[in-house]
Amino acid sequence: MKRFEVDKNPIEICALSDSSLGQLLSTTYASSKKVIMVDENTHDHCLEYLLTTYTELEEAEVMLIPAGEENKVLEVCFQVWEAMSEYGIVRSDLIINLGGGVVTDMGGFIASVFKRGLDFIHIPTSLLGMVDASIGGKTGIDLGSYKNQIGTFQQPKGVFIDPAFLHTLPEEQLVSGYAEMLKHGLIADKKLWDLFRSLDPVKLVENEHLEEVIARSVALKVEIVNEDPKEKYRRKALNFGHTIGHGIEGVCLMEDPISHGHAVALGMIAESYLSFKRNLISQREFLEITNYLSQIVDYVALTDEAKKHVFELIRNDKKNDQTSIRCVLLNGIGNVKIDEAITEAEVHDALQCIDNVYSGN
Ligand code: NAD
Ligand code: ZN
Repeated sequence: MKRFEVDKNPIEICALSDSSLGQLLSTTYASSKKVIMVDENTHDHCLEYLLTTYTELEEAEVMLIPAGEENKVLEVCFQVWEAMSEYGIVRSDLIINLGGGVVTDMGGFIASVFKRGLDFIHIPTSLLGMVDASIGGKTGIDLGSYKNQIGTFQQPKGVFIDPAFLHTLPEEQLVSGYAEMLKHGLIADKKLWDLFRSLDPVKLVENEHLEEVIARSVALKVEIVNEDPKEKYRRKALNFGHTIGHGIEGVCLMEDPISHGHAVALGMIAESYLSFKRNLISQREFLEITNYLSQIVDYVALTDEAKKHVFELIRNDKKNDQTSIRCVLLNGIGNVKIDEAITEAEVHDALQCIDNVYSGN
């Protein structure tokens, strides 16, 4: 088992049955009501495994929320809060979020404000959830096309990562999570980047070192979160690829949604280009990054109109101050510059660069 802590709360990577979840359920939460949050897919593919591992959860209420980013919205939270009221959930009860980043972000948010805050536990079932979304205590929901506009910082009382859940995860979602792992390497650890880019994300589940590979990525996020829990400085580095990536994700959300990691990978191509243009990375590094990323995620064609819209979304992104767009750029592979101001023209060029990378220009 690999074990980490954030705020004294455990993050464990191992089979569920070997984790300390059972002990938590039979001691701290022995007399609490339990609510298990799932979406349609984790209901079908993950719930039975959890319930058969822990008889303590026999009487838990299962709360089914619709799958997909488009459902990470306040309307769904309302319905869950109403159901929780009907079930008579009180502050000493426990929410267990069993799912990808949508379930853990929204379930965490629902728990963190209901009755002024219920304890919650994350059992991430997507790769992205395991290496990123479940760690660090950011909860949140979207507001229209604007991602994660409403949310809280509250740490889960435990994160239990069992790689066995990945066996039913669609390939596209494996790649999506892998993008965030690559990001961890790019922003903080060149050796990790070299390791990750030597692997094929689609074959990850068969990798005999899967637990170790996940743990390397988790370790990095834990280190950053522990150093800067409220994202005042170092944690901002995790937003690499996300300024332009969120813009692309938001625009696609309205037409033909792409996964979060897919958008982040395209955002990393664009933001690597800006890093290169400012001489922060060499051409060799730029090509190394864009060659690998363009191999693992598909091209998304954006019309001029859509590109303008990407910029509008970026301008309204919550990370920006009043006057300028702020972005994380690479400063060599394994290092970053945070809060770099970028212009509309640069965003436009960076989006154009995505087209060029895929067309081989
Ligand atoms: P997701 O939760 O939508 O999961 C992706 C898809 O995989 C969904 O259809 C889901 O139902 C399905 N799925 C999940 N586990 C499965 C399994 N084991 N078997 C079969 N299907 C399964 O999305 P995601 O990629 O996990 O997470 C993206 C979300 O995470 C975004 O909303 C993003 O903003 C958020 N996020 C949050 C943080 C944070 O720090 N809080 C960090 C990164 C991302
Ligand atoms: Zn992300």
